[in-house]
Amino acid sequence: MKGDLDVGLGTHDDDGVNSSLALTLVNVDLGPYGPGLHKIAIRDGVIDVVEPLAERVRSVESGAIDLMGCTVLPGIDDSHLHAFYFGRALVSVDLQKAETLGDLKVILRSAGADESGWIRGNGWDAGRIQGTGPGGTVCAADLDEVKPDVPVFLTDMTGHQGVGNSLVMRLAGITDKTDDPVGGSFIRDEYGVPSGLILEGAVRLVNEVAPGLSPIAERAAILTAQGNLLSRGITAFTDPGLGPGAVSLMEGSGYLSAVQAYRDLAASGELSVRANVMLLFGGLGGTTAADVRAGLAGFGPPAAMKPFGRLGISQLKIFADGIPRSKTAWVTEPYDDCSCGHLQVAGSTDSERVAELAHMVADSAAAGWQIGAHAIGDRTVSAYLDAVAATTDPKDLRHYVIHGDLVHHDELERMAALGVTMNSNPSIRWAVAAGATTLLGRERSLGRQPLAAAVSAGVNVAISSDAPVTDPDWRVIIAAAMTRSLKNDPHYSDDQKLTGLQAIDALTINGAWQSHAESWRGKIAPGYAADLVVMDRVLDFDEPWSIPECNVRATVIGGIIEFGELA
Ligand SMILES: [Zn+2]
Repeated sequence: MKGDLDVGLGTHDDDGVNSSLALTLVNVDLGPYGPGLHKIAIRDGVIDVVEPLAERVRSVESGAIDLMGCTVLPGIDDSHLHAFYFGRALVSVDLQKAETLGDLKVILRSAGADESGWIRGNGWDAGRIQGTGPGGTVCAADLDEVKPDVPVFLTDMTGHQGVGNSLVMRLAGITDKTDDPVGGSFIRDEYGVPSGLILEGAVRLVNEVAPGLSPIAERAAILTAQGNLLSRGITAFTDPGLGPGAVSLMEGSGYLSAVQAYRDLAASGELSVRANVMLLFGGLGGTTAADVRAGLAGFGPPAAMKPFGRLGISQLKIFADGIPRSKTAWVTEPYDDCSCGHLQVAGSTDSERVAELAHMVADSAAAGWQIGAHAIGDRTVSAYLDAVAATTDPKDLRHYVIHGDLVHHDELERMAALGVTMNSNPSIRWAVAAGATTLLGRERSLGRQPLAAAVSAGVNVAISSDAPVTDPDWRVIIAAAMTRSLKNDPHYSDDQKLTGLQAIDALTINGAWQSHAESWRGKIAPGYAADLVVMDRVLDFDEPWSIPECNVRATVIGGIIEFGELA
């Protein structure tokens, strides 16, 4: 093969102008987008022709690539993926494989401090690892046994808690005299002494004393994430929540300087994926409307991604609530301990917090920002929809619900009417729903994320990984969304399944719609950006769990082969 196969050597800049040679693919399967074989012709980064083939092309046209019936899908848009933190998790100490405290200690023992002198790790599973702290939780003493002399802070897989060693607790000034801050808490022993395990927004106290990352380390996190995501067929993502509010989240390194790192990479042409970055002010717990207003005013106006561009910064994340496991998602029907949670924004009563959320939404929308609200509990979703409904022209900015797990089905029509997307995470449900039945009741826990009901109500449904909370594996997301099965209950099923077409749409064009980009990316059609994922075989949508067995052969963005090869 010759000539046109040099296409991978093309270049792009952030004005969206792609220069690459023409590329023609023949004998292409389009999965749920159409029966039979197709030809796709690409020119200057844009899809030029898509047409069905009357029969398999046998003698390959000059320069065309014969895909021999393999499936090509629109490039995957993982529309809620913490790419910066995913990259940090890849370059920092990876604790995902630790099954026991012993495993965790082994990994920690061999870990070295980073350039800042700290050891930061990610991905341990609090549901699996038993420590020697209160109630069998992992505590500072567990880490001290291995690393007493270096600051160690290890974020768990959910990003909603972390454990520090005694040195970190000392550096952060956390003692028995330290009160639980708004939006977070410390696990304490019987004398009231914090054990080292820190929940939700209380990680702020550690992150405030942790050294920031260098610009090189920030760019490395993004580029490491990008390389990994490209190998999986992901061509676009929304990175939800960088800015001052990051101090209350995960390892706390994703400040505004990380947003600058995205800008630098876009300017230098090193950003190949199409990235939307959401800003975060205030953060996890206790955010005030004043925090958000001042933050946005200091940042300047939103900058939407240009058509065919690489970077957009026009969205704002608000943590309206937390997660069921810490009983911080606001629900009508109580948890197993009779509590119902509440909004996690500032305020001391429900009505104060509802008003604070409404202020935030109103101010941000008035300044032209699109808002994605972390809302898992049904009452949170309703309070957020009330706030959105009170803005002027609510449909224009396409505000959206992040997660939406426990949304009341009656609210779906209102979401559709307000143009509010539901951005849900089927692979999180697959992994955790069976473990939360005591907390939420079986029906509510397993029935979460009513995807089919949302689609039939006319809601734009986008599905995403929320990596690094789960692996950014869209193949598992599709199988989970199409079957509704559960990791611990593979035979479970219900009436909220998506079809293959709906699932792929939710990972492509619906994500593009959330990003105001559905007119130029997210589908294989003439005039659309040539963002494609080429698989190594034909995907069998009748057997959804066979899809995770299939591999990505190449990832194409704007006509450029960014991963793999086609020759
Ligand atoms: Zn998230």
